[in-house]
Amino acid sequence: MPANTPVSEKLLDWYRRSARDLPWRRDAADPYKVWLSEIMLQQTTVAAVIPYYARFTARWPDVAALAAASDDEVMREWAGLGYYARARNMLACARIVAREHGGRFPDTEAGLRALPGIGAYTAAAIAAIAFGRRAVVVDGNIERVVARLFAVETPVPATKRELYALTDSITPDARSGDFAQALMDLGSGICTPRSPSCLICPLQHDCRARANNPASYPRRSPKAARPMREATCWWIEHDGAVLLVRRPAKGLLGGMRAFPSDLGGADWSPAAAGESIGSVTHGFTHFELALAIRNVTLAKGCNLPPDAEWWPLDRLDEAGLPRAFAKVAVAVREMREP
Ligand code: SF4
Repeated sequence: MPANTPVSEKLLDWYRRSARDLPWRRDAADPYKVWLSEIMLQQTTVAAVIPYYARFTARWPDVAALAAASDDEVMREWAGLGYYARARNMLACARIVAREHGGRFPDTEAGLRALPGIGAYTAAAIAAIAFGRRAVVVDGNIERVVARLFAVETPVPATKRELYALTDSITPDARSGDFAQALMDLGSGICTPRSPSCLICPLQHDCRARANNPASYPRRSPKAARPMREATCWWIEHDGAVLLVRRPAKGLLGGMRAFPSDLGGADWSPAAAGESIGSVTHGFTHFELALAIRNVTLAKGCNLPPDAEWWPLDRLDEAGLPRAFAKVAVAVREMREP
């Protein structure tokens, strides 16, 4: 196809050749079957839905039959699909359609949305697929493909409106149902979340993200920056050994062996401030720590914490220091090496 062919034509051409053969696609002119499949597919995989769809449509071939079924029968048949509120809404919807709409589903998005269990996506999908209306269908797969196609830099979920507008801009007036299903197939089989197969993608020449790490789209908000905390630890050396203490049993790094410090409520500090000899940083789950290191010489006879140990410098690796303090040991060692 020429490079300037619209995206929708390329995609529909690809869909003609490569569409997945799914049972409800054979029934695409029947709004009941399209609705049933869309309800079942909410939060559930295609493979899991296929046998349920077959059983439901064999037992209740139209909406009037389903509406006449008892709650118990339907819930038993639904067992295993999960999200049981869906089944209850489905039955309520079938009964409203049978009772108030003469057994015919409304053929507009607005009419469909007024029914229980039908949200914006499902209404658009049914209107487009079963009634041939132009509707903009956006699900998770489609959002991913469109975010890549246009290299949308706004992170999700703030980008939802933008992705809807961009999907609208490429949705054709005719066959928007096939177009939506084509985008879904592309998203599930080719433009996959982690490793999109761009080399066999029918939209590779239109895709702005293709040359720029497509798997990094849709963009996600960076995690909130962790707060920074500052603390000091004391390097106290004597006769080839360094002073270690047990941290208080409760709290941060509770009960672990470490250099004396004022980190998180340790209750001993040397009388002298000592001399600054460096610092390390370490990321804890909830904060970033900047740990200053001060070299202190203890006065003779000063009080040590009760569980203090003079640990041989050449066996410091065996002390089981938590990572923040192991970094201190490395920093001091590196400082001393020529
Ligand atoms: Fe997705 Fe790659 Fe196709 Fe772009 S070229 S739509 S990233 S598969």
